[in-house]
Amino acid sequence: MDCIFCQIVKGKIESKSVYEDEDFKAFWDINPQAPVHILIVPKKHLEPTEGYQDSDVELLGRMFLVAEKLARQQGVFDQGFRLILNTGPDAGQEVPHLHLHLLGGRKLGRLVTE
Ligand code: AMP
Repeated sequence: MDCIFCQIVKGKIESKSVYEDEDFKAFWDINPQAPVHILIVPKKHLEPTEGYQDSDVELLGRMFLVAEKLARQQGVFDQGFRLILNTGPDAGQEVPHLHLHLLGGRKLGRLVTE
């Protein structure tokens, strides 16, 4: 069964795309928490709550490189930005498919604990 981000990756659900390559798609969050709020999503369906495998290491690493590239493209690299990866219910994870939040463009609170 397809999850919502799998459907976005496949183009079955529309998204405001900002980046795509063979392994990743990045698009604007539908409920932005900052002027820049982009989700970096591996096309492969990985679930953080299931834990990662050694074979995921390269993909996980490249996800951060994509995030950095987008932070530069969006003009928030120098001023600063935050990457968030929610895992599980206590973190408020809504979508089971692995994704990194890229947040920037305003002064963010020291820690997001609410
Ligand atoms: P998380 O709580 O880390 O699982 O975050 C899921 C994020 O996905 C939330 O910030 C939602 O606003 C965002 N989201 C859910 N559905 C969509 C969608 N169709 N397009 C863009 N962002 C979405």
